[in-house]
Amino acid sequence: MDYTERLLTWFDAYKREMPWRNTNDPYAIWVSEIMLQQTQVDTVIPYYNKFMGRFPTVHSLASAPLEEVYKYWEGLGYYRRAENLHKGAKMVDEQYGGVFPGDIEQVKKIPGIGPYTLGAILSIAFHIPLPAVDGNVMRILARQFLIDEDISITKNRKIFEDKVMELMPEDPNRFNQALMELGALVCTPKTPKCSECPVSTLCKGHINGSALQYPVKTKKIKNPSEFYYAILFKKGNTYWMEKRPEEGLLARLWGFPLVEKEGADNIINKACYYEVLQDVSHVFTHKKWEMTPIIIEWEKTLFSQLTANTELGAFVTLEEMKSYPIATAFKKIIKKVIKEDLK
Ligand code: SF4
Repeated sequence: MDYTERLLTWFDAYKREMPWRNTNDPYAIWVSEIMLQQTQVDTVIPYYNKFMGRFPTVHSLASAPLEEVYKYWEGLGYYRRAENLHKGAKMVDEQYGGVFPGDIEQVKKIPGIGPYTLGAILSIAFHIPLPAVDGNVMRILARQFLIDEDISITKNRKIFEDKVMELMPEDPNRFNQALMELGALVCTPKTPKCSECPVSTLCKGHINGSALQYPVKTKKIKNPSEFYYAILFKKGNTYWMEKRPEEGLLARLWGFPLVEKEGADNIINKACYYEVLQDVSHVFTHKKWEMTPIIIEWEKTLFSQLTANTELGAFVTLEEMKSYPIATAFKKIIKKVIKEDLK
């Protein structure tokens, strides 16, 4: 058996059950691929099922308010994906009558669909031979064919895409999925299970013992940390929450006002009563927030000082917060408040 045959035979025998693997519906495959960006399969499955239960068609997603879509995305993070999916659904609904197109140029224009997702959707749903190359696929190919180009350099992706096309059988549907599955189950980043690998006798990295030196990747600079006070203005049994700006990190989600720690002690000390909770940190792809949550009894002057730029906000009970689209970073703070309340 050649490389491709071995890979596909292995895939048929060992592939994991995933709800989107039982459908040819391009919309369903699109949703799954967007959810799978930056997120593990096991995490995605319950979200996918819930999402498809509520938005089973392009039209149902396109006609739902974005706030509701966020609600179904809550906990998955990287909310820009939900926003683009929603925008994309509106586009497909208006321009293609709710039918996801099978044309490369048309799909490229849908928001949130980059080269990897384009290849994945079109090869899986429409059997169009296109590569779907992500970090997993680059790792496998670099090891198997001793490709030493730096995978953190965007233009080098083309080398890996060409390799995929060279290996691709007539029907690409299972091939891209098989490569992804091999990367997830066998050729993992730190401890590849070469003894279980269907292509080990063809893998140059395994044969010459250099597999772990691949892929070549320049190290990223560590995420810088930002330090904030997260202010929880308390009025009775409610807390002040505000909607974040239209643009930027966690856009349009709800959270607590954040004040940069440096120089803020003076402001905080003016509060007549406050309680400091345990620090909370939240990691994004490019930065880290270190937050010290502070519960401050509502007081007019301080409140207007710290919420001067708020466009939309409300005093909300802990119970009511459940129905707000709240970013995970702030949910971690809410958990601390609930714990404090129970003491
Ligand atoms: S033999 Fe090992 S290094 Fe090579 S592709 Fe298989 S798991 Fe990866």
